[in-house]
Amino acid sequence: MTRAVVIGGGIVGLTTGIALRRAGVEVVVCEQAPEIRAAGTGLGLWANALAVFDALGIGEQVRAIGKPSEMHFHDPAGKLLETPEFDAADHRYLLVHRAKLTDLLAGRVGHQNIRLGTGFHEYEEHAGGVTVRLSDGSTEEADVLVGADGAYSAVRAQLVPETRAQEHHGHQAWRAVVPADGIAVPGNRVILGTDGCRGGHVLTHDGSVYWLVNQFKSPPLTGTRKQQALERAIHLEEEPDGVLARLIGATLEELILHNQVMLVPPLPHWVSARVALAGDAAHAMSPHITAGATLGIEDAALLGHLLGTAADVAGALAAYEADRIPRYARAAELSAAVEHSPTPQEFARHYAAFSHWMITPRDAERNRVPA
Ligand SMILES: Cc1cc2nc3c(=O)[nH]c(=O)nc-3n(C[C@H](O)[C@H](O)[C@H](O)COP(=O)(O)OP(=O)(O)OC[C@H]3O[C@@H](n4cnc5c(N)ncnc54)[C@H](O)[C@@H]3O)c2cc1C
Repeated sequence: MTRAVVIGGGIVGLTTGIALRRAGVEVVVCEQAPEIRAAGTGLGLWANALAVFDALGIGEQVRAIGKPSEMHFHDPAGKLLETPEFDAADHRYLLVHRAKLTDLLAGRVGHQNIRLGTGFHEYEEHAGGVTVRLSDGSTEEADVLVGADGAYSAVRAQLVPETRAQEHHGHQAWRAVVPADGIAVPGNRVILGTDGCRGGHVLTHDGSVYWLVNQFKSPPLTGTRKQQALERAIHLEEEPDGVLARLIGATLEELILHNQVMLVPPLPHWVSARVALAGDAAHAMSPHITAGATLGIEDAALLGHLLGTAADVAGALAAYEADRIPRYARAAELSAAVEHSPTPQEFARHYAAFSHWMITPRDAERNRVPA
């Protein structure tokens, strides 16, 4: 039986664990944190990720913790930026709570297959497999090592040196999931505002609200996280004390997650004969397309499929890389078109074009788009 060590118990590492186990691979997931914990915010899962969860037999359970939603953009006056060239399906996603998703995934991997408080130290490849050295001094022997350890991946640092995660200069994000106590939230509203700001609020499955504020080209930050988010909300709502501003104002400072957005530069390779990267470890991209996890879930499914069917590990990993690098090159092109849109209307159009491309089943897409 093939044996795999997966580094990282985030969404992608856990999904990889499930996909590999379904493919008949023995798996141990090593997570450096003492528990499986995801930041308490929302996450949009697109149709391609839901198709993976369906194939892995957990689609129903994922839908049960999510709220079907549609991504449409508005201007600060509340006017919908229409994209008539795209279908409703191109806008559709499932909003889930990250922590609920990782709990569900960890349960399916099986807690007996997850080593918590166990960081990756280094690996050594040899003819028969790969030896993985861990932070507690122990080692794991495996046929294949998957680095799903996020944007700051230590596996990547060894596999593809000199590829440190870089700041997406001036791109900051603030977000939280909060109860809507006493604030009338009329529905979902994502706004393309002025001064490089984007954000809004989306209702979650349990009646809470996920609010998000992003700014491209942000000036240096001052003040508390709440003040920083409120300063940007001014660029998103014309009316003073709008719904977004009130939601931010009602959020406890410690519940606000702030990130400087980080990017992984395009990698010349993702694999060796025994080691592969997946998820943000391979391709952390700007979240203005809100699809990094969704794309990483595809990585997990493909690894499961190839390692379960190919004659040898090296062949499976080569096929994985041959599929993934061009797909991400295209994702990066379409994502850059969103980022550099000259107007909000163009942003909305490029965003829908990205989603349309991403969710189009691959065979249909190949039929339609000549290589
Ligand atoms: C503001 C914002 C909004 C976003 N919104 C969306 C969205 O709506 N939809 C979407 O699809 N994507 C979204 N994304 C992207 C998404 O968050 C990421 O792509 C996704 O979480 C990456 O998952 P991952 O499992 O690859 O990495 P991570 O979530 O980073 O998980 C990596 C795991 O590895 C562990 N680890 C790290 N180093 C080691 C080590 N040395 N040893 C052992 N374990 C280690 C970490 O503790 C962590 O648990 C958003 C991103 C941002 C910043």
